[in-house]
Amino acid sequence: MGIQKKHPASWKTVPNLLNYADVVANFSWNTIRNELQGLPEGRGINIAHEAVDRHAGGPLRDHVALQWLGSDGAERAFTYDDLKRLSNRFANILKELGLGKADTVCALAGRIPELYIAALGVFKNTSVFCPLFSAFGPEPIFQRLSRGDAKLLLTTERYYRQKVSQLMGDLPLLKHVLLVDAPDHLGDDLLSLPRLMAASSDTYLIPPTGAEDIAALHFTSGTTGIPKGALHVHSAALTHYMTGKYVMDFHPEDVFWCTADPGWVTGTSYGIISPLLHGITNVVDEADFDAVRWCRILASRKVSVWYTAPTAIRRFMRMGLEPVREYDLSQLRLIHSVGEPLNPEAVLWGLKAMGLPIHDNWWQTETGGIMIANFPAIEIRPGSMGRPLPGIEAAIVKRSGKDSVTVIEADGVQGELALRPGWPSMFRGYLHDAARYRKCFLGGWYLTGDLAKRDADGYFWFVGRADDIIKTSGHMVGPFEVESVLMAHPAVAEAGVIGKPDPLIGEMVKAFVALKPGFTPSDALRLELIGFARKKLGSAVAPKEIDFTPDLPKNKAGKIMRRLLKARELGLPEGDLSTLEESE
Ligand code: ATP
Ligand code: MG
Repeated sequence: MGIQKKHPASWKTVPNLLNYADVVANFSWNTIRNELQGLPEGRGINIAHEAVDRHAGGPLRDHVALQWLGSDGAERAFTYDDLKRLSNRFANILKELGLGKADTVCALAGRIPELYIAALGVFKNTSVFCPLFSAFGPEPIFQRLSRGDAKLLLTTERYYRQKVSQLMGDLPLLKHVLLVDAPDHLGDDLLSLPRLMAASSDTYLIPPTGAEDIAALHFTSGTTGIPKGALHVHSAALTHYMTGKYVMDFHPEDVFWCTADPGWVTGTSYGIISPLLHGITNVVDEADFDAVRWCRILASRKVSVWYTAPTAIRRFMRMGLEPVREYDLSQLRLIHSVGEPLNPEAVLWGLKAMGLPIHDNWWQTETGGIMIANFPAIEIRPGSMGRPLPGIEAAIVKRSGKDSVTVIEADGVQGELALRPGWPSMFRGYLHDAARYRKCFLGGWYLTGDLAKRDADGYFWFVGRADDIIKTSGHMVGPFEVESVLMAHPAVAEAGVIGKPDPLIGEMVKAFVALKPGFTPSDALRLELIGFARKKLGSAVAPKEIDFTPDLPKNKAGKIMRRLLKARELGLPEGDLSTLEESE
């Protein structure tokens, strides 16, 4: 059963996508390209020109582009013109330091204004922007700086001393470090950003930029193994613009807030690029998750479109409805979620707590932008990722040999989610790993590594990552289905489900459950949960074992790490833990 949307006539704004079939049938990437401007004199397409300079040169010049909220209560607002000038200065610094096309610039700085200015300056200089999550320790930072061939690092004095200085001897390519908060240069290569910014010009001519020039290097979240470096190009802006239009439903008066850190692809594609491409106001909060602070930001900043993640929604759900209902969220029009499967319970929680359902959408670091979504004006099916974007062909396939795949035409059959290559934000390679990149493409499809089903109306339903699928008594069980049922029980805050080898049935479904405040683990509750799951799922699919745990292991992107639950259960090596979140 789906959640029907109100008639568009009652909407505060008319959604950009009203008739899915029409938009899909008439879609062309050329039309999208024509909605962007391109560099003057046919010099190509550059993300920063489209996101900033295009608006700074027109009626949006003095519109607030970036509304920054500091952890300590400080605030700064940057207009499109401010961003143009500041990113010009940054681009000039890069140029003067000898950096150019394809040189990697890493940023380890938290969500501070300089990070956003740097990203845009790097795009302008046709260098490669590689954001690093600031909570990483020295080892994951070293891995990324070294594998990414970083030539310059933007960071703060504190991060430099705590996490980077000891690595410098092993990073021969890293020639310059720019310190955002050092009033003076600290050495020949340890430079003060404020000094350089003050001395550099605020005009800059963006060099010719090819659609295929590399713009960004994003490392994956490391949920299933060692993070991979995905390379993205300038023409990815077409996807960011198109999805901003049809999924985020951006309108000129919108205030948008994407809660992801730019250290993850969502925080760059949607936390920087997409809203600016649409010339709207983009809110950035420096602080970490805090449910009360977040409600306050939504209300006081009059956020109209909000993009967040299941891990945050689950934390809201833990605290109940009442605290959220205290806030005036009447300006909020749309809530979107990405990163992990969104349990139906979470979609409905949105309705109860905030008066809006949560729109799930699906994509990966590799896809660069949203590929499958629940669109604003169209029925939501709770638990479904939605339907493919215009210009995106998705299918459920089966690997049918070493070199071929078969498309599963029948509805409701589980298989691997595949996309037809060719959309603009598709990754163009895994850094230094051409063989792995090639292996992602088979029989004319890009294979995502996720398992899913499609229903008769073309909605896609996530089943699980191929690596997480449980084979039990001849059934293939996706952890998401089992976790969603457990989440529907009033005592359950979070659940992670794995397959535990079993001599009789292949694998046994085992669940790890974190309880909501006010509930305590007991054998009686364990039996109740098993019975609850059996009633809904049947005994073959319901968990046979449940362990209570105060928290589930998550990576720094907030995703449940099932591979770690499994390794710990079986006493196996824990594998790469560089992105593991320290427990709260
Ligand atoms: P790694 O590839 O390093 O193991 P990762 O796959 O978690 O990490 P990302 O690219 O950040 O790295 O995440 C993409 C994956 O997240 C998808 O392949 C999918 O498994 C999951 N995902 C994202 N959005 C959704 C969603 N809406 N529903 C279900 N799963 C999702
Ligand atoms: Mg992945």
